[in-house]
Amino acid sequence: MKKETILKRAIEKAIKKGYNPCEFGNEVVDVRDSFVWIGNKKGESCGMYIDSVLFSHDFCKALFGIQPVCSGCGEKYISQGAGKCMCSYELIPVPAWIYNGWRLFESNDRLEYISKFLKEDN
Ligand SMILES: [Zn+2]
Repeated sequence: MKKETILKRAIEKAIKKGYNPCEFGNEVVDVRDSFVWIGNKKGESCGMYIDSVLFSHDFCKALFGIQPVCSGCGEKYISQGAGKCMCSYELIPVPAWIYNGWRLFESNDRLEYISKFLKEDN
Protein backbone atom coordinates (compact mmCIF):
# COMPACT_ATOMS: atom_id res chain seq x y z
CA MET A 1 0.00 0.00 0.00
CA LYS A 2 1.14 3.52 -0.72
CA LYS A 3 1.91 5.79 2.22
CA GLU A 4 -1.05 8.04 1.39
CA THR A 5 -3.42 5.07 1.16
CA ILE A 6 -2.37 3.66 4.54
CA LEU A 7 -2.82 7.03 6.18
CA LYS A 8 -6.18 7.69 4.53
CA ARG A 9 -7.53 4.26 5.45
CA ALA A 10 -6.26 4.51 9.04
CA ILE A 11 -7.82 7.94 9.57
CA GLU A 12 -11.09 6.85 7.99
CA LYS A 13 -11.19 3.76 10.19
CA ALA A 14 -10.54 5.90 13.27
CA ILE A 15 -13.27 8.35 12.22
CA LYS A 16 -15.74 5.46 11.90
CA LYS A 17 -14.89 4.58 15.48
CA GLY A 18 -15.44 8.06 16.84
CA TYR A 19 -12.33 10.12 16.01
CA ASN A 20 -13.59 13.57 15.11
CA PRO A 21 -10.70 15.89 14.23
CA CYS A 22 -12.39 18.49 12.02
CA GLU A 23 -15.57 20.51 12.45
CA PHE A 24 -16.20 20.66 8.67
CA GLY A 25 -16.39 16.98 7.90
CA ASN A 26 -14.77 13.62 8.18
CA GLU A 27 -13.35 12.82 4.78
CA VAL A 28 -9.65 12.63 4.12
CA VAL A 29 -9.45 15.21 1.36
CA ASP A 30 -5.72 15.29 0.68
CA VAL A 31 -2.37 13.97 1.90
CA ARG A 32 0.75 15.88 0.92
CA ASP A 33 4.24 15.92 2.40
CA SER A 34 3.79 15.96 6.17
CA PHE A 35 0.22 17.27 6.09
CA VAL A 36 -3.21 15.75 5.88
CA TRP A 37 -6.44 17.63 5.17
CA ILE A 38 -9.71 16.38 6.59
CA GLY A 39 -13.03 17.99 5.73
CA ASN A 40 -15.79 17.94 3.14
CA LYS A 41 -16.28 18.06 -0.62
CA LYS A 42 -17.20 21.76 -0.57
CA GLY A 43 -13.57 22.59 0.07
CA GLU A 44 -13.80 23.28 3.78
CA SER A 45 -11.09 21.36 5.59
CA CYS A 46 -8.68 21.27 8.49
CA GLY A 47 -4.99 20.88 7.68
CA MET A 48 -3.00 18.96 10.25
CA TYR A 49 0.51 17.64 10.64
CA ILE A 50 0.41 13.90 10.09
CA ASP A 51 2.37 13.31 13.28
CA SER A 52 -0.04 15.40 15.32
CA VAL A 53 -2.83 13.11 14.09
CA LEU A 54 -0.90 9.88 14.70
CA PHE A 55 0.03 10.87 18.22
CA SER A 56 -3.25 12.33 19.34
CA HIS A 57 -4.93 10.39 22.12
CA ASP A 58 -8.28 10.50 20.33
CA PHE A 59 -6.87 8.99 17.13
CA CYS A 60 -5.03 6.22 19.01
CA LYS A 61 -8.07 5.40 21.16
CA ALA A 62 -10.28 5.11 18.08
CA LEU A 63 -7.83 3.10 15.96
CA PHE A 64 -6.32 0.79 18.58
CA GLY A 65 -9.21 0.61 21.03
CA ILE A 66 -9.37 0.99 24.78
CA GLN A 67 -9.67 -2.70 25.68
CA PRO A 68 -7.05 -4.02 28.12
CA VAL A 69 -4.11 -5.92 26.65
CA CYS A 70 -0.99 -7.54 28.11
CA SER A 71 1.79 -4.99 28.64
CA GLY A 72 4.34 -7.62 27.53
CA CYS A 73 2.96 -8.83 24.22
CA GLY A 74 0.07 -6.47 23.43
CA GLU A 75 -2.34 -9.34 22.92
CA LYS A 76 -5.67 -9.71 24.56
CA TYR A 77 -4.36 -11.66 27.49
CA ILE A 78 -5.29 -15.17 28.38
CA SER A 79 -4.40 -15.79 31.97
CA GLN A 80 -2.18 -18.73 32.64
CA GLY A 81 -2.97 -18.37 36.31
CA ALA A 82 -0.92 -16.68 39.01
CA GLY A 83 -0.95 -13.37 37.17
CA LYS A 84 0.90 -14.57 34.05
CA CYS A 85 -0.05 -14.03 30.43
CA MET A 86 0.38 -16.83 27.86
CA CYS A 87 3.53 -14.96 26.74
CA SER A 88 4.86 -15.68 30.26
CA TYR A 89 5.04 -12.00 31.01
CA GLU A 90 3.83 -10.89 34.38
CA LEU A 91 0.33 -9.76 33.70
CA ILE A 92 -0.04 -6.02 33.84
CA PRO A 93 -3.05 -5.00 31.75
CA VAL A 94 -2.77 -1.70 29.86
CA PRO A 95 -5.26 -0.10 27.46
CA ALA A 96 -4.56 -1.17 23.85
CA TRP A 97 -4.23 2.43 22.66
CA ILE A 98 -1.45 3.13 25.16
CA TYR A 99 0.43 -0.08 24.31
CA ASN A 100 0.17 0.49 20.56
CA GLY A 101 0.60 4.25 20.78
CA TRP A 102 3.94 3.68 22.46
CA ARG A 103 4.99 1.06 19.88
CA LEU A 104 3.97 3.49 17.17
CA PHE A 105 6.08 6.21 18.74
CA GLU A 106 9.12 3.90 18.86
CA SER A 107 8.64 2.56 15.36
CA ASN A 108 11.01 3.58 12.56
CA ASP A 109 8.23 3.16 10.03
CA ARG A 110 5.04 4.47 11.57
CA LEU A 111 2.81 3.85 8.58
CA GLU A 112 4.06 0.27 8.34
CA TYR A 113 3.11 -0.19 11.99
CA ILE A 114 -0.32 1.29 11.43
CA SER A 115 -0.94 -0.83 8.34
CA LYS A 116 -1.12 -3.91 10.58
CA PHE A 117 -4.33 -2.54 12.05
CA LEU A 118 -5.99 -2.13 8.69
CA LYS A 119 -6.01 -5.82 7.85
CA GLU A 120 -8.15 -7.07 10.69
CA ASP A 121 -11.73 -6.03 10.50
CA ASN A 122 -12.27 -4.83 14.03
ZN1 LIG B 1 1.36 -11.34 27.06
